[in-house]
Amino acid sequence: MKKAIVLSVVIMICLTSVMMYTACGKAEDNTKYTIKAVYDEASRTLSADMIVHYVNDNYETDGVYFHLYPAAYREGARFSPIAESDVDTAYPSGISYGGITVESVTVNGESAEWEIGGEDEDVLIVNTALKSGGSADIGMTFVVTVPEVRHRLGYADGVLNLGNWYPIAAVYENGAFRCDPYYSNGDPFYSECADYEVELTLPSGWEAAGSGSVSAALNGETVTYDFSASDVRDFAVCASPGFTCAEGEQDGVKVRFYGTKAQAETGLAIAKDAIRTFSELFGAYPYETFSAAVTPFTEGGMEYPALVYISSDMTGSLFTDTIVHETAHQWWYAAVGNDQINDAWMDEGLAEYSATLFYENNSSYGILTEDRIADAMQSFVLFSEIYGDAEGFGRMDRALGEYSTATEYAFHAYVKGELMFDSLRHLMGKDVFVKALQAYYKQYCGKIATPAALISVFEDVSGLELESFIQSWISGEAAVK
Ligand SMILES: [Zn+2]
Repeated sequence: MKKAIVLSVVIMICLTSVMMYTACGKAEDNTKYTIKAVYDEASRTLSADMIVHYVNDNYETDGVYFHLYPAAYREGARFSPIAESDVDTAYPSGISYGGITVESVTVNGESAEWEIGGEDEDVLIVNTALKSGGSADIGMTFVVTVPEVRHRLGYADGVLNLGNWYPIAAVYENGAFRCDPYYSNGDPFYSECADYEVELTLPSGWEAAGSGSVSAALNGETVTYDFSASDVRDFAVCASPGFTCAEGEQDGVKVRFYGTKAQAETGLAIAKDAIRTFSELFGAYPYETFSAAVTPFTEGGMEYPALVYISSDMTGSLFTDTIVHETAHQWWYAAVGNDQINDAWMDEGLAEYSATLFYENNSSYGILTEDRIADAMQSFVLFSEIYGDAEGFGRMDRALGEYSTATEYAFHAYVKGELMFDSLRHLMGKDVFVKALQAYYKQYCGKIATPAALISVFEDVSGLELESFIQSWISGEAAVK
């Protein structure tokens, strides 16, 4: 019983609150996901029952569409989440496949007609008529097979990553549901805020970091984590029997960092600094909790609402930088949403530039803004000297699938995005620039912002005509020199 005692101590330390909280404010009748999932370690499968109280804002439809992102991990998928260049490092024991099987679907308790569609058999279509302003309780049972891969959904080195693992409602806009497939470039996700109640059962002795407030109950061989999250646009978990958790508080936010003891302690201090700095700069952190977990992951890190992955490959300044960048995403992506398929620069460029502002406000980290910007400029110029003739080069308004490589995507969304925000800051002056970010956060917290919305807020706050300036960056007319 030693394990159980150790775990219950950890639970007392790390899981102390179950209050619901949101800074964004929300509609009275929000879409709500209620999920009960059990993870079987031997088969690496997750069996789940889910009921989505689906609220239809303002359209009439014959069907409701859900992304099945785990389908991209199956053998034969047309769109694999793993970029060609990452295949060697992504799989610790050779290629491994996963997937999702939907077993049954109900609407308001009655068995419903459904089909699998989408470009890559990655969309669940529930055939039910829904009037504008209506709602329906859509139930489904499904089984997710977790591949052995260092990715958003995967198992490696004793850590389970549950990112983009359940059927999530597609965004309806311009008369249709958005069914973008799982591009390996960027974060190909686009979703609206909803409430979540997630009960996840794991083998006893496992610690789970998740998007929201949590309580845990031991049941002999298993432990059940009960998560609540309000007004979040996704829900993820990272779990392991090997996690040590360090917990602190910053500006009323419970901050938890999971990893080795050393990672947890160092990471917690950085995460708290980031929460403090961004809350001061942009407005209060939007959730009650913030968790970060060090996990096997092919990229530097990954953002989910109130939870971020930090790749176990990140050490030293990369470890710091990844925590700061992913924490900034809580404002830009999580709270203020954007179309991450077509406008990735909005959250990635802003998260990168927020990291620059973080270092500017925390001189003890020893990174100067002019050095960061000069590095970004130099690397973009070098990149453009080599690839500048490629079709579409310089355009930040390309969809994820239109970038020929992950590197080309990163140089545009992150590096050019950061340079654009830096040039805007100099045009507007730092005080006005920060005020514009505050107004943008306040106005679009819990919502989805478009490039036009961002431009409009920045113009209103500054009194400047910025549209042609920003558009020239987005369209590629403005050359970085
Ligand atoms: Zn990012």
